[in-house]
Amino acid sequence: MSTSFLSVNDLKVHFPTEDGLVKATDGLSFDLERGETLGIVGESGSGKSVSSSTILGLHRGSKARVSGEILLDGVDLLTLSDEEMRQRRGKDVAMIFQDPLSAMHPYYTVGNQIAEAYRVHHDVSKKAAKARAVEMLERVGIPQPDRRVDDYPHQFSGGMRQRAMIAMGLINDPSLVIADEPTTALDVTVQAQILDLLQDLQTEFQTAIILITHDLGVVAEMADDVLVMYAGRAVEYGTVKEILTHPEMPYTWGLLSSVPDVSGDPDAALLPIPGNPPSLLNPPSGCAFHPRCTHRDKVAGDLCRTQLPDLVPGPRGGVHLKRCHLSDPDVIYRAEILPEIAPDLVEEL
Ligand code: SF4
Repeated sequence: MSTSFLSVNDLKVHFPTEDGLVKATDGLSFDLERGETLGIVGESGSGKSVSSSTILGLHRGSKARVSGEILLDGVDLLTLSDEEMRQRRGKDVAMIFQDPLSAMHPYYTVGNQIAEAYRVHHDVSKKAAKARAVEMLERVGIPQPDRRVDDYPHQFSGGMRQRAMIAMGLINDPSLVIADEPTTALDVTVQAQILDLLQDLQTEFQTAIILITHDLGVVAEMADDVLVMYAGRAVEYGTVKEILTHPEMPYTWGLLSSVPDVSGDPDAALLPIPGNPPSLLNPPSGCAFHPRCTHRDKVAGDLCRTQLPDLVPGPRGGVHLKRCHLSDPDVIYRAEILPEIAPDLVEEL
């Protein structure tokens, strides 16, 4: 049995619908240690948000069929009662949402909402909870926190609201934080500040972070490990260094090609992935990426269309798993992809 702080094993989240079964997450496994960050990357509909919402127990009360294991410090969260999970949510496991304006109630002050998040898990007076809210606002860099604590969400800038969301997420010192696109709506400078803040807080509290994003640039900045998802499944998994320097799956190549500054060259080509993510109701046969993959003709026979590749170690070995039939992906990446997206890096890597 895994001894990791968080160990997700063969997690499946399926939704029965009138049209059939939607397999939003279909057999996901990963480990995460305290003080480390896992980036889960993929386009919308890849299953990344559903998987992390399930870790928080947000599927409860819905029609979702969930199986597998979510072991947090050895306890399987899927076996807890609703009340036990409610006790843990916000305290042991917390979420930082991507859109603070809709995640915060417009009619209550920022301080009130942060203080309430504290009072749910601590038997303290309103005054003590407000003092704790001021403390957290100060910790996340809100100027004049004792005054701004009484502001309403619309009185905060986008960056300040995101900081306030982080304050709310961390007020109970959770050991696991799920940050869902925490910087997507922010400009580049504020984005960098928020990522720095998250990293500082992580170092201070040894928090494990799951960072959900569509942006491999953010992953490069923040994460230790990365898990690339497509159509509800992991398609590539390993350390950030390994995945960014030796990606072995054409979908990951596509995501990398969409990162504007991978080479630091503003004139480098930006190559969007052709086509759209598949329907999870009726995903393509074989490798779900095959209708969009420009490398499938390099695989013998009709394998890409007919056979789902297993998630297995690639030719470089180590803890680097890929779900692809290509036998020499590193060679193809260096010869065909890297010169297109990062010509300056070709010699370096
Ligand atoms: Fe492309 Fe085939 Fe690899 Fe899928 S298995 S990513 S279709 S080469």
